[in-house]
Amino acid sequence: MSRYLRRSSVAPPPSKRSARSATLSDAAQLRRLFAFTRPYRKQLALGILAVMVSSALTLAVPQIVRRFFDTFVASLEGSAVSLNLIVLALVGLFLVQAGFNFLRTYMIAQVGEGVVADLRKALYRHLLGLSVRFFETRKVGEITSRLTSDAAVVQGAVSQALAQLVNQVALLVGSVVLLFVTNLQLTLLMLAVVPVVVLGARLFGGKLRRISTAFQDLVAEANAGAEEALVGMRVVKAFTAEELEAERYSERIGRAYRVALRRAAFRAAFFAGILFAMFSAIGVVLWMGGRLVVAGALSPGALVQFLLYTLFVAGAVGALTGLYSQFQEALGASRRIFELLDERSDLPAPQVPRPLVWVKGRVAFEGVSFCYGAAHGAPGLGASPTSSDRRGETVVLRDLSFVVQPGEVVALVGPSGAGKSTLVSLIPRFYDPTEGRITLDGTDLRAFDERSLRAQIGLVPQETQLFSGTVRENIRYGRPTASDDEVEAAARSANAHDFIVSFPDGYDTVVGERGVKLSGGQRQRVAIARALLKGPRILVLDEATSSLDAESEALVQQALEVLMRGRTVFVIAHRLSTIRNADRIFVLDEGRIVQEGTHEVLLAQGGLYAELYHKQFRERTPAR
Ligand code: ATP
Repeated sequence: MSRYLRRSSVAPPPSKRSARSATLSDAAQLRRLFAFTRPYRKQLALGILAVMVSSALTLAVPQIVRRFFDTFVASLEGSAVSLNLIVLALVGLFLVQAGFNFLRTYMIAQVGEGVVADLRKALYRHLLGLSVRFFETRKVGEITSRLTSDAAVVQGAVSQALAQLVNQVALLVGSVVLLFVTNLQLTLLMLAVVPVVVLGARLFGGKLRRISTAFQDLVAEANAGAEEALVGMRVVKAFTAEELEAERYSERIGRAYRVALRRAAFRAAFFAGILFAMFSAIGVVLWMGGRLVVAGALSPGALVQFLLYTLFVAGAVGALTGLYSQFQEALGASRRIFELLDERSDLPAPQVPRPLVWVKGRVAFEGVSFCYGAAHGAPGLGASPTSSDRRGETVVLRDLSFVVQPGEVVALVGPSGAGKSTLVSLIPRFYDPTEGRITLDGTDLRAFDERSLRAQIGLVPQETQLFSGTVRENIRYGRPTASDDEVEAAARSANAHDFIVSFPDGYDTVVGERGVKLSGGQRQRVAIARALLKGPRILVLDEATSSLDAESEALVQQALEVLMRGRTVFVIAHRLSTIRNADRIFVLDEGRIVQEGTHEVLLAQGGLYAELYHKQFRERTPAR
């Protein structure tokens, strides 16, 4: 199967992590995250204002309660009217506060949801722009884990935790100020516990972040494994490896679970400690405050007020330490997201890209050599032991030089691992040559914008990837602006129209995971229609090896002939008819072109081509 379209099944650990996000300080990281709130400035401002008002109203409650105590409970002299008024004032205050609570929660949730949606969109768009090589070194499950699980952690922090943070900070500061106003001596006593709490929070925060990162990494690893098995379900079933896969997943989830438990134990111990410290402080305040009331230095109402503010402080400190841990986790998660956002494509973009307007389709390889990165370094099947090794990397293509004229059809043949797929993957710049250059109409491919270059190249792989959606949408993938008539015309030329209209919903038939399953030959014809619609100047074709029945084979062959007409074609040939019709055949072996010519000439020459012909083509393909 062609390797230029599929991910490598071996995924070595990420080789090139961005140095930038790894070295970003927490503050810089936060600033970067905060920059995502910019489009939601209004909601954020309104939300923070609502939080402030709501907190101020909460802070007013102990003042009212003090009055209540000093007027009724202590002196027993107040009138029923003023009692009613106090209670009414309280209820009124709570009502107004409810309004502001709604506003703050809703506004800040808008910010959080917006930020995370934007972050996900930015990340996905960025991922789509990364090179093929990047996706060969990362597991898909790991990346989706960043998009889902890490983004969800950030979401929690930005939506609920941010509102909480502002609320609790406002309550804490307000309460401390009012405590000082109420009684200086008691306040100093109560605040003695604060340094203990702060120190504990710092120690605990760092540890917690490390545990959380380990947890998220383990979840990502488990996801990646599960994804591989789910995608390759047929292989799993064919090898009855269900139990093996289930155990692998259980083992990975088990590790994540144990780390999660460790995190829970840490959190639980810390909260218990903080609560103990805060309640002890309240005990001391009661003891000292009681003595002050007896000595007449403090009214009972003022003591109650003091206690209420102390409770606010305790509550705020408890909540803030929880939030601190949540923010630490979110920082870890956003770091991993930014790390992906900082990945750069390894294909350098030209400063001023050459425009690609009218392409003739002359392709030239000039001294092209290529090796996959060292991280991929599995020795090639066709590589001799001495032939590899420029810095330990296997050289897959060696010093290739040839010119393919516009409209010429070149068939590539060679033993497995000879480098055929690699050669054609250099044309749409899935990779750049390690040495030498490839030109299109005389200009180095690297001088063009990647996307405009690829717009000129059509790709028909062995295995056609259809996306969930209708047949029409799948064909239109080749040119999203194409009209329905154009889609149909392409399908007709690709011999696909008849089978499409035989479906009950015709072109609107849903294909893919939840829809109609197409046969191998039908899929190929959809792929051909897609390529026809795109109308590229250059065509890269990897013929399917799986044999189709004679009728289907003939339909695909006809469609391919229509597709190839007038284009420069590189075809990895598996059919006898293709090599017979090709203008030239390149015979590849160990990354070199060892023979070149037409079928007849090469056959007469003998050597590798004749050998391959007798072994592969004559036996496998029924001559037509
Ligand atoms: P086949 O006919 O079996 O598809 P091929 O002639 O197309 O083979 P290539 O797929 O180009 O051969 O592979 C050439 C060599 O490059 C092989 O040794 C292979 O192991 C190696 N190779 C191919 N793709 C990659 C990759 N993505 N990363 C690392 N090495 C690769």
